[in-house]
Amino acid sequence: MFPALETERKQETLPDPYEDFMYRHLQYYGYFKGNTTKTLGQVVPSFSFYGLFIFSLHIQIEAISRDSLMLSSPLLRSRQLLFDELDQVNPRLREPRELFAFFSSKGTLQAPRWPIECEVIKESIHHIEWVPPQPEYFYQPTGNEKLPEIVGEEKGTVVYHLNPVPTEGSYFTSSRVGGKRGIIKELAVTLEGPEDDTLLFESRFESGNLQKAVQVDTYEYELTLRTDLYTNKHTQWFYFRVQNTRKDVTYRFTIVNLLKPKSLYTVGMKPLMYSQLDANIYNIGWRREGNEIKYYKNNTDNGQQSFYCLTWTIQFPHDQDTCFFAHFYPYTYTDLQCYLLSVAKNPIQSQFCKLRTLCRSLAGNTVYLLTITNPSPTPHEAAAKKAVVLSARVHPGESNASWIMKGFLDFILSNSPDAQLLRDIFVFKVVPMLNPDGVIVGNYRCSLAGRDLNRHYKTILKESFPCIWHTRNMIKRLLEEREVLLYCDFHGHSRKNNIFLYGCNNNDRKYWLHERVFPLMLSKNAPDKFSFHSCNFKVQKCKEGTGRVVMWRMGILNSYTMESTFSGSTLGDKRNIHFTIEDLKSLGYHVCDTLLDFCDPDKTKFTQCLAELKELLQQEIHKKFNERGEEVNLEGSWTVSLYFLEQLNQKMMSKKKKKKPLQTRKQRNELHQKNKLMPEFKLTEDASVRKAELAPTLQKQSTFYKTLENFRSSAMKNEKLSLNSLIHFCYLYLLVPLEAGNIKFGVCVVVGGQH
Ligand SMILES: [Zn+2]
Repeated sequence: MFPALETERKQETLPDPYEDFMYRHLQYYGYFKGNTTKTLGQVVPSFSFYGLFIFSLHIQIEAISRDSLMLSSPLLRSRQLLFDELDQVNPRLREPRELFAFFSSKGTLQAPRWPIECEVIKESIHHIEWVPPQPEYFYQPTGNEKLPEIVGEEKGTVVYHLNPVPTEGSYFTSSRVGGKRGIIKELAVTLEGPEDDTLLFESRFESGNLQKAVQVDTYEYELTLRTDLYTNKHTQWFYFRVQNTRKDVTYRFTIVNLLKPKSLYTVGMKPLMYSQLDANIYNIGWRREGNEIKYYKNNTDNGQQSFYCLTWTIQFPHDQDTCFFAHFYPYTYTDLQCYLLSVAKNPIQSQFCKLRTLCRSLAGNTVYLLTITNPSPTPHEAAAKKAVVLSARVHPGESNASWIMKGFLDFILSNSPDAQLLRDIFVFKVVPMLNPDGVIVGNYRCSLAGRDLNRHYKTILKESFPCIWHTRNMIKRLLEEREVLLYCDFHGHSRKNNIFLYGCNNNDRKYWLHERVFPLMLSKNAPDKFSFHSCNFKVQKCKEGTGRVVMWRMGILNSYTMESTFSGSTLGDKRNIHFTIEDLKSLGYHVCDTLLDFCDPDKTKFTQCLAELKELLQQEIHKKFNERGEEVNLEGSWTVSLYFLEQLNQKMMSKKKKKKPLQTRKQRNELHQKNKLMPEFKLTEDASVRKAELAPTLQKQSTFYKTLENFRSSAMKNEKLSLNSLIHFCYLYLLVPLEAGNIKFGVCVVVGGQH
């Protein structure tokens, strides 16, 4: 607590409404000791300084920049404000003390906070980092894999059962370090003697996920995964421990309640296994293991939902070993904190990497924000730097994201000349773990609100979705301050191999295809891991709440979701090989490398990529025409005719989608509004009154109509059109699907003839 200093000050006029509000606010809460005597326009306040410290940094900065009444008095002193020598002008904020205050001075970590109903074992789990010396090839099915029938607990013996599990209908109430109070009971069965070879299961540790294990034969177990907390969905991530293993016998595990109909396990992915003895004796870490791998539909049907099974067999390397299985290389909240602690303690790295708390999660875990940049010689140069925003683990079961993030941080915090150059030209804002609660409890997709955070980036519910609300707000403020060149949120993908990006199509002719340049460059820099072919740039309605689309709408042209497979590559030398931790980390490095190519003042690479993208697009247009049974010669001479073809268009639309019956008055009103705004052939630039939610669609359509109008007039005059404009038009027409319902006409482009 700081001593209350009091002062008096004369003021001729009242400050602006903002300051007036702050006065009243302070007074109301007793921080501004109410001797406010207004006499003939004079205010004689006295201040309690404590009041100043309750403001956020933002308000303090704003207050200073306004040279406010409160801060301009030379008599005011605080431990946060610094005054220049003359003690008169320009007070400024002191650099916060204890930059890494959330790590204690002894360097210990903040223990993770768990929902109070979660049981947590006391042992700490640690795995070594290791890269297998030999490539780990995909599993090649023999065709003789068994599909075990699910027996269930009626005919088997329950050997592990997490209870109770908060599912749908329950909700998060409070949290504490270590989870549930009291003694944690042993859940695994008690062994009857040294001959008893029942496996002992456990998953009550960070990121662990296993709800139940049923022994259905001597060496055969059926496993049930825990759904994301407070939901009845999202089973995919698994991570559990088995003890009391026997060597030289074949075990079979079958997970019985997976929910996705498609899986990488059908195309060769193997589960990961970790042997504690192998780690201790031979320094061997996680490796791909398993035989007779099969992913198939569960024969037991509860009438509401279909479940899928994953089965595999395995031979453990040692007797009496402790082994782990996981869907992917785990990366926990504690792993992250250890990493950040090492950065904080590093005298060089901590110079250019500032660690802050972005916010607290629902359970009270710290969401970290890293600002990485080299100090600039002048304030002018500092202000001119562009920003790059990277984030990961909004989906907690996608630990791939953390390994890419680790690779990025390893490189950008290194002393390599390229890393130094990047720190010179950029300000990196990094949120390495957006959903720490989900990671801690072993969720696959949700936060403790039971929701997928990557569908709620537009939220106004700060209290319910603090992690993404604060991330969006941070980026919003960043955009007010400087240009954000690139935003990328790292994810894992459960159905496709390789690594790829989702971006956002931009129809502004000036920047046409520019959003595809970074992904194309990345594919050239990591040709055996990154697939440009798998990238997608559509902005679908169902993805409106994702970080990618929201940041794009906020004005970041290069806004991406990076998807990395849980399995491996189908490209180049890495074809049919699982990714290792090192492969994922290398992607972090390639992001940095590609940033340098992307920003190279010599624009040759950029221009080449743009030309290549246009070429690719031409090929795609050819393909689309061919699919319709039309021949085109894009390089030949052109005559383009445009037809008003309402019927054709309607046919196309009805093929694509049956019109849904309207349900509510709101929907009917919305449609009416849309139609009013979209008369035939009306260009929509003047629609300043349009609804905010309609803006993106209208913008897309506006570009379309404008191009169409140009084409029509050219066609009337029988003018030749440039190849570029034709490709652009075909692109809009064929590849960017316009929203149904509003388009009253279609277009037919006839190429190459005297039509
Ligand atoms: Zn994801």
